[in-house]
Amino acid sequence: MNPVQEVAGETVLEWLEYGRERLLRAGIEEGREECERIFMKLSGCRRLDLHLNAPELTAPEIRDRFFDILERRERRIPLAYLLQEAHFWQETLFVNEHCLIPRPETEILVEQALKALGAKTGENFSFLDIGTGSGAIAVALLRTCPNARGTLLDVSSAALEVARVNVEKYGLMDRATLVLGDIFNFPCEEAKKWDVIVSNPPYLAAADWRTVQEELRAEPRKALDGGEDGLDFYRRIIAGAKERLLHGGTLALEVGQGQSGTVSKWLQDAGYDNIQRFGDYSGIERVVTAKRGEILI
Ligand code: SAM
Ligand code: GLN
Repeated sequence: MNPVQEVAGETVLEWLEYGRERLLRAGIEEGREECERIFMKLSGCRRLDLHLNAPELTAPEIRDRFFDILERRERRIPLAYLLQEAHFWQETLFVNEHCLIPRPETEILVEQALKALGAKTGENFSFLDIGTGSGAIAVALLRTCPNARGTLLDVSSAALEVARVNVEKYGLMDRATLVLGDIFNFPCEEAKKWDVIVSNPPYLAAADWRTVQEELRAEPRKALDGGEDGLDFYRRIIAGAKERLLHGGTLALEVGQGQSGTVSKWLQDAGYDNIQRFGDYSGIERVVTAKRGEILI
């Protein structure tokens, strides 16, 4: 037994408490919950079992891996990367350091894309997910709508590999096309148009980088950096999406805090119809949706 484990004690509950204290010293408030998650993932036990102090839970392999993950978490590597999983919508997705960790607020984007589709969710329709990352949005849409077909686009081949793992995990390969490319300059049939274009593009502004949490720096810069004002991707998507949307099609975008007004105005100026904004529970507007209008400007 090494000195760390001597300090930490013999039982699962003692390890969890020791882990909580160490993470708290590293500035992590929810250390207890995180330690429980690490432990449950390693041992395959349920939360309830943590209290039973069953001997199989304190096996040396589990103990060593627990302390190894704890040490890396202390260095502020996001827990999702350490456990290689993230929960999103109704799925447990594989993630690694090459993709953004899907966020709960992005579920609002999925929800609103589905609402905008209305009755169509039961019919055949196609969507394009720009900047698919782990494939979170696309996998949620494909699983919710058994008749949908999706194109998953990303500029990062490493992220696209993560998306592929998730698409395969849920048996969606026959309805998903993974494309490596840069927004609208990607190899695709000339005439291809979609019913829905969704995107959670990078939207952090240059100034945001000074104040971001340590964990965010572990995520790919390419997934977060939206240029000087954070809005670079909206300019390009709004301009390019019109020719790529079928008539009456929907564009659904996640936006950063304070960006919904500008993005809505740009959509209006570009001739989109039915522009709507949606907030989260704390009232921050997170999503803007619009329909392709009659007049293309
Ligand atoms: N859709 C995922 C989600 O919501 O969790 C990931 C979103 S992440 C904020 C943005 C994604 O856009 C990253 O995966 C990044 O690699 C991709 N990306 C960045 N620049 C791009 C570009 N020029 N063309 C296509 N994708 C791009
Ligand atoms: N939601 C991320 C954050 O602010 C940003 C994701 C993005 O740029 N689309 O933590």
